[in-house]
Amino acid sequence: MYNVTLIPGDGTGPEIVEATRKCVDATGVKIKWDVQECGIEVIEKEGRVPPRVLESIKSNGIALKGPITTPIGKGFRSVNVYLRQELNLYACVRPCKSYKGVRSYFENTSVDLVLVRENTEDLYAGVEFQAGLDKTAQLIKTINDYATGKKIITRADTTGVSIKPISVEGTRRIVDYAFDYAVKNGRKTVTSVCKANIMKFTDGLWYDESRRVALAYGAKFEWPDLAEGLQPDADLVGRVKEGGSDLAYNERLIDNMCMQLVQKPELYDVIVTQNLYGDILSDLCAGLVGGLGVAPGANIGTEAAIFEATHGSAPKYKGQNRVNPTALILSGKLMLEYLGETAAAEKLEQAVADVIAEGKDVTYDMKPDRNDPTAVGTQQMAEAICRKMR
Ligand code: NAD
Repeated sequence: MYNVTLIPGDGTGPEIVEATRKCVDATGVKIKWDVQECGIEVIEKEGRVPPRVLESIKSNGIALKGPITTPIGKGFRSVNVYLRQELNLYACVRPCKSYKGVRSYFENTSVDLVLVRENTEDLYAGVEFQAGLDKTAQLIKTINDYATGKKIITRADTTGVSIKPISVEGTRRIVDYAFDYAVKNGRKTVTSVCKANIMKFTDGLWYDESRRVALAYGAKFEWPDLAEGLQPDADLVGRVKEGGSDLAYNERLIDNMCMQLVQKPELYDVIVTQNLYGDILSDLCAGLVGGLGVAPGANIGTEAAIFEATHGSAPKYKGQNRVNPTALILSGKLMLEYLGETAAAEKLEQAVADVIAEGKDVTYDMKPDRNDPTAVGTQQMAEAICRKMR
């Protein structure tokens, strides 16, 4: 019996969470669901994320979460960002896989890749300075005083600044996670992505450290000269999982990666990248395989892991039993894998794939005509998936 925190969220969240719970339970894995309400209504009433929610996730170490609305420009900060920071969820994992029957421009291509995004550093660390403030102008002056190369050439009183921290430790942790994931999941290649030709001290550091991690795993470099003069990461040597030497290590610059992904996505396997590039690539990859309705996700950290769909709360469909539960159900499959329940995870994924391929018991967005009256509701699609498993 596993204890799992279940956060219904708000908008259409409670409907897809209910559907997912049914499907995960139908795999036969015994889970005691610890339901924690944490939607917009609860937060507005209590003025913050209730501490009991965080305590529950910390104590169970694992949560399945519905989407939560973030009001734009007012009210509380994003609950998702808050949870990510409080629980140090440093890895965002987004598998993108083609399923027969899901419509996309790439439906005749077999895409099966996993994007591993660093979640805590980079331009998204939130270290920002607003244009027009005295302290921003002072910062710009200080930067220019220290700069040995290029300087900020725009006016100090009309320029905003965002800082991009990238550390060796943060890079090691995420690239190690990507390699470890690849070994455990029988993947073949890890591709590290950034823009080191332009940002030498941040993205350059990222590549150096990626290569050291790749060396520690004994991976085969696509371009062996990239490893010249580098030693394997000393922190990882001797700790890496067996199987690393069967992996290939590649590098792509982010702009080239975008083009490659829309030209030959089937060539890519595990992709590891920084926060900003990862944010953009994860939407691009979701688009390759049919969009938000089928894009699952996991946020993994040192203290806990949260499994949730990529999409938001789609509030305009709230309470209508209309939206597609697939993305959260596939997030449930990731959760089962994380728990080590591989057979149950495979059974659930196969049932989802079969229901989608048949194209009968699917929600409106999966029908060729979105107004198709034969489209079923959220719960009915989940029930069809449960029937397949039985
Ligand atoms: P959204 O993903 O909620 O919806 C965008 C559109 O995508 C919807 O109008 C709908 O047409 C479609 N869509 C989304 N999910 C679908 C599904 N399961 N089935 C069928 N169609 C679906 O994006 P948004 O409107 O930008 O965001 C709504 C709210 O959700 C915002 O407050 C945002 O901050 C929040 N959000 C939360 C999370 C999260 O909790 N992890 C993630 C993203 C957005």
